[in-house]
Amino acid sequence: NFSQLVRNMVDDLEEHLKDGQEFQLVLPDDQPVFQDPNILRNVIINLLTNAIKYSHENQEIMVKVWEIRNRVFLEVQDYGIGIPEEEQAQLFERFFRAKNAFNLQGTGLGLNIVKRYVDLIHGKISFFSREQEGTTFTVQFPKKFKNEENISH
Ligand code: ATP
Ligand code: MG
Repeated sequence: NFSQLVRNMVDDLEEHLKDGQEFQLVLPDDQPVFQDPNILRNVIINLLTNAIKYSHENQEIMVKVWEIRNRVFLEVQDYGIGIPEEEQAQLFERFFRAKNAFNLQGTGLGLNIVKRYVDLIHGKISFFSREQEGTTFTVQFPKKFKNEENISH
């Protein structure tokens, strides 16, 4: 169950939250798992750990899942440091680290891996970010594996 998977990862990450940080979840009750659970986990954990790392104490992190037709959407929204507009085009490049993140630990690999996984399963990832206001990532997961899609066409 996809919602359960998200909930488990959120529970695992609770201990890494900064003081007063809190996850707010909006999850559908019954959302069957689709796609490789390891890929889903990797995508989710990278987005959630970024949201924790790049936002401040006492801020909420919104995690929302919904479904439209044969796609499942995951949105992770934070009210953190945001990504400078002039650097946003490089966000998914290997080793990219924004200049406003210099004092926070990171290798700049997480999002590159996320992007490659999302491409691999023919999903989509987009983001909206404003410096010092926050960042929202939206991932679209196709519910079918590529092979199954081919069969049904
Ligand atoms: P790691 O490889 O450990 O994940 P990282 O977090 O630096 O290191 P990415 O997850 O790939 O690497 O993120 C790349 C850069 O994008 C970050 O260094 C940061 O500058 C910016 N970034 C990513 N997510 C956010 C976010 N939610 N808010 C603000 N900046 C972000
Ligand atoms: Mg990261």
